[in-house]
Amino acid sequence: MNENKWESSVRKVVPYIPGEQPQFSDVIKLNTNENPYPPAPAVRKVLEDFDHGRMRLYPDPDSAVLTNAIAKRYDLKPSQIFVGVGSDDVLSVAFMTFFGSDKPILFPNLTYSFYDDWADVYRIPYRQIPLKSDFTIAPEDYKTENGGIVIANPNAPTGVAAPLEMIEDIVNANPDSVIIVDEAYVDFGGESCLPLIEKYENLLVVQTFSKSRSMAGMRIGFAMGNEKLIKYMNDVKFSINSYTMNHITQLCGAEAVADEKYFRETVDKIIEVRERSKARLAELGFKFTDSKANFIFASPVKKSAKYVFEELKKRRIFVRYWNKPIICDYLRITVGTDEEMEKLFEALEDILNG
Ligand code: PMP
Repeated sequence: MNENKWESSVRKVVPYIPGEQPQFSDVIKLNTNENPYPPAPAVRKVLEDFDHGRMRLYPDPDSAVLTNAIAKRYDLKPSQIFVGVGSDDVLSVAFMTFFGSDKPILFPNLTYSFYDDWADVYRIPYRQIPLKSDFTIAPEDYKTENGGIVIANPNAPTGVAAPLEMIEDIVNANPDSVIIVDEAYVDFGGESCLPLIEKYENLLVVQTFSKSRSMAGMRIGFAMGNEKLIKYMNDVKFSINSYTMNHITQLCGAEAVADEKYFRETVDKIIEVRERSKARLAELGFKFTDSKANFIFASPVKKSAKYVFEELKKRRIFVRYWNKPIICDYLRITVGTDEEMEKLFEALEDILNG
């Protein structure tokens, strides 16, 4: 296609492709790592009591009610917390804030595929470091000159978790750049590196309400770190858009993070169903990683992953499949309710043995 002259100055990027959100309800949706349970009961009360007249007003630009609730839960000062519209927003602001050097940032070749998109859109040079064949990280590979490091722990889409000592080893070797640890799935069995933020002022820990707090639709993410890191992020955020998070979201988020009992119950249930599902997948001949996330990254043996993905879809069961090198033999299956997983296994038996 011919390019017009004005198009030569367009910032061109290849966008991230999110998982499908089918607009019909009779689907078993195991494709975007959403939580199958509703958010904490107090969130519903906020919505019921909300005065719609309040919408006239701009929301609190500091999201203080939510920031304070997160600070309380994690025993930090509010000045150590940055909140954003999903952790995608938080990570994007962090990339923009901290990765301004000419040196390449480092992240694994197989990880959350938004990292290279943000690097592209912000014109940040990057180098993707191959994972080992068992999908684990080789920490030595991250002890080289760099403009920053991003590690998802547990990793996506593999679910493989790195031990805290390995993360500390990498952070310790890199005092001159910011290390972002994306802990979107940490509550399902990973080890958080939050205790390290007091020791390393260049470590930023990012988490989300989308998975373990059942609020993907509300869009809440947060970062925890040294006050200096958080101030730098807020300076960038307030240079772009002060009012990113709406008032209702702030109130709902504060209630969700305060209900520790409900959080534990739902997270424990997902872990339980995940471990049972691994046993069922093994019976069906799948190979899979020891996922510590709310999904299982599994490879069917008898039939191709692509075939199984398409057959499941015909039966209105959605899982995630990427036709890409390294991962094209795998399906990423979100852990749903017991009933949903039962239907998945019935369908898999039919597809693989039928
Ligand atoms: N990090 C990782 C590793 C993810 O898989 C996701 C979810 N797609 C996110 C961050 C972003 O999640 P959210 O914006 O919903 O917080």
